[in-house]
Amino acid sequence: SARAAGPGRVRRHSDALRITQQREETLRTDLHQALAEGQLRLVYQPVVDLALHRTVSVEALLRWRHPVYGEVSPAEFVPLAEESALITELGRWVLAEATATVAALPHPDLAVAVNVSARHVRSGELVSDVLQALGSSGLSASRLVLEITESVLLDDEHVTDDLAALRRLGVRIAVDDFGTGWSSLAYLVGLPIDVLKMDRQFLADVETDPQRRALCSSVLHLGTSLGLVVVVEGVETATELQLLRDMGHRFIQGYLLARPLDEAALTTQLPGLGGAPVPTSAPGLPRA
Ligand code: C2E
Ligand code: MG
Ligand code: MG
Ligand code: MG
Repeated sequence: SARAAGPGRVRRHSDALRITQQREETLRTDLHQALAEGQLRLVYQPVVDLALHRTVSVEALLRWRHPVYGEVSPAEFVPLAEESALITELGRWVLAEATATVAALPHPDLAVAVNVSARHVRSGELVSDVLQALGSSGLSASRLVLEITESVLLDDEHVTDDLAALRRLGVRIAVDDFGTGWSSLAYLVGLPIDVLKMDRQFLADVETDPQRRALCSSVLHLGTSLGLVVVVEGVETATELQLLRDMGHRFIQGYLLARPLDEAALTTQLPGLGGAPVPTSAPGLPRA
């Protein structure tokens, strides 16, 4: 009808907005009970070493099964948790759960990476929370990696002091979601870090654009020559894998090798460590 075209469209639009806001409100409230109600769990995504042909670490990733909305992505609920000290409580649980799970596996060299929110790092409680998790799980500090974002490092002295203290214990620090800029890499020199995790966007167009490929290769080599372990995340295609191999690159993570795995799958599905072998060089693929 004529009425539906004008005001109706506006109303549908504001209805959609209202539903989105309601969902956010509900999730924000329900998140406080999610832990106690057993709705949160961790899945683990392998990081593979192409030189050793096996999984060397797993990254713990939070999952929330909401009673009404079903699976809610951490990309949606972690920012809500970060609005309050709740993120520190969740972070403490993730540390305890992830270290206990990996300590119980029959793989004495496997490391576990835990994402730590900026707020948790700044809370001043991270060092004691890590010590607590290592103490109760029995996991050695050298098997724990903490993933933090770049901006946290540029914060202040208290933060870098805490990270340096964790490194002295043997814990490794990874910079997550690292971009592609040279200048940013220069900022990292001298900071207390061990691992660089290149964001998936770093692989954009490497298959087709020689300049993107050259940039990718240069940043990987620069990171490695700075003494950092460089992990490329989000590897989805065999061509991307081949290009990275041709660059002499070692550490990768992505759906091509493995999706995030349930705890029960960790004994049978880690690439090269009880699961499928890590794919070796694939003949017939376009070379760099
Ligand atoms: P992140 O730490 O950068 O994690 C990588 C994300 O990329 C994960 O999404 C993973 O499932 C996804 N991914 C892995 N391989 C591929 C691939 O080949 N292609 C594509 N397109 N994506 C891939 P997820 O699990 O949804 O996590 C999203 C973000 O949520 C994480 O990004 C992290 O920032 C945050 N997060 C997850 N778990 C935690 C946690 O326990 N604590 C905190 N503070 N943040 C968390
Ligand atoms: Mg991460
Ligand atoms: Mg990442
Ligand atoms: Mg990310």
